[in-house]
Amino acid sequence: MAKNKLPKQAEDFPRWYNEVVKQAGMAEHGPAKGSMIIKPHGYAVWEHTQRALDDRFKATGHENFYFPLLIPMKLLEKEADHIEGFAPEVAVVTHGGGQELEEPLAIRPTSETIIWNTYSKWIQSYRDLPLLYNQWCNVMRWEMRTRLFLRTSEFLWQEGHTAHATEAEAREETLQMLEVYREVAEDVLAIPVLAGRKSVTERFPGAEETFTIEGLMRDGKALQCGTSHFLGQNFAKAYDVTFLNAEGQREHAWATSWGFSARMVGGTIMTHGDDNGLRLPPAVAPVQVAIVPIYKTDEERSAVLGVANRMRTALAGEHNIRVRLDDRDQHRPGFKFSEWELKGVPLRVEIGPRDVVDDQVVVAGRIDGNKKKLSTDEAIASMAGMLDAVQSGLYDDAKAFREANTHTISSFDDFAQGVEAEGGFWVGAWCGDSDCEIRITGQTKATIRFLPIEPEDPGAACMHCDKPGTELATWAKAY
Ligand SMILES: [Zn+2]
Repeated sequence: MAKNKLPKQAEDFPRWYNEVVKQAGMAEHGPAKGSMIIKPHGYAVWEHTQRALDDRFKATGHENFYFPLLIPMKLLEKEADHIEGFAPEVAVVTHGGGQELEEPLAIRPTSETIIWNTYSKWIQSYRDLPLLYNQWCNVMRWEMRTRLFLRTSEFLWQEGHTAHATEAEAREETLQMLEVYREVAEDVLAIPVLAGRKSVTERFPGAEETFTIEGLMRDGKALQCGTSHFLGQNFAKAYDVTFLNAEGQREHAWATSWGFSARMVGGTIMTHGDDNGLRLPPAVAPVQVAIVPIYKTDEERSAVLGVANRMRTALAGEHNIRVRLDDRDQHRPGFKFSEWELKGVPLRVEIGPRDVVDDQVVVAGRIDGNKKKLSTDEAIASMAGMLDAVQSGLYDDAKAFREANTHTISSFDDFAQGVEAEGGFWVGAWCGDSDCEIRITGQTKATIRFLPIEPEDPGAACMHCDKPGTELATWAKAY
């Protein structure tokens, strides 16, 4: 199976992305418009991401539960801002069992409504609080334009839904989970992110405050990598969730919700990939080390595979490394090299008959393209350290890229031309007025990605309308 050559990133980034996702076996389009089939190599990246998140959720005191996919429409409609925000994207089931349903059912676009409706039964007293719960599930938001992983009607994610007795506790939870997201994005996916607060326009429907982490992709566009919402008492009021406090008075509970989705598989591809394919961070790479034996005769084959097998056993066993011995007879080594390169495997080990005699192997790095000869034992002993170096090297590269592509806005024209020509993050003073923000977006297609978590006086006039600046806004074109 000959692979097509990948388009160059610099020439056509969207086509590069689409091709690398397909050729590397990450995902493909499903038969229904807007749908996606996640293939094993892509799903494994998500599984490792899930585990990293889930371990941190548990460590911060959360438990998992599961709510139904279908939500009665009348439940969905109770929180006014929420339904107004989601209405255009909601898919509705109107028929079942060959009959029209008496009450239409929404396919969850997110689960605040059904969960808070249930919390009204679970919460009676301050002793019932806090509720610290999360669910792993799929949600559906109708999309006509599909981009694999980044924008599909159905997508996989987790949604945390917590209830608290006090505003302070709920606010603290919101920022704690944002920090968990930052840690997973940076330490696991090797994607440097900036954390901030969304403007009113970009806020989650029904939230008092939305916080976000944002990364910069190789094409200069921003990607929202995870959001955490302080929901105030809006959902508690809409679904009548009250509790008796320690003084015996009835109060509405305080809420948070937070989500991180499988679009981050796409984010990982777009942050690290190059013209030869994926470059996966070892922490989420389904295969961390691929061993490719090189031989011609049967005699060479058995000698080379002897060493290769010993190495595989040692790496997988003692060193807990995800290793694949590529002993497929039908493919030549050159084919295997480029396939593992395309699939983004961080390290490749090459073993030929000559190496067996010399008791050495060649270790080739996907990130830097370097090859080095090491004794077999040395290679085994140093592999975990080499993977760590790849992990931090990818992060450092991506951070240097972001820093080189972050600009201070000197004038509106300068910003408008710059963001059009080269993308990147643009930081400057803004008046805080949503109408002004919408006009800027209308003229530039850039949106405010985030404001500082605590408002900062920008000490300058708004770059667009010249009114006094009240916020230091970071703008970018975004996915
Ligand atoms: Zn303004």
